[in-house]
Amino acid sequence: MEELIGHCRICEKPIYCKMGFLDGVVQADKTLVCFECSGESQKENVTVEPQK
Ligand SMILES: [Zn+2]
Repeated sequence: MEELIGHCRICEKPIYCKMGFLDGVVQADKTLVCFECSGESQKENVTVEPQK
């Protein structure tokens, strides 16, 4: 049983609550990030990768 909570604000991956377990992290400003991004987003600004 999954409930869509929102989307990662960085990669926009959908974040679900699975049986009471949130598939990501709610930040102080109430935004959601997935675990992958939360590990990399300790810095203030995550910028879009430069494209050539
Ligand atoms: Zn993410």
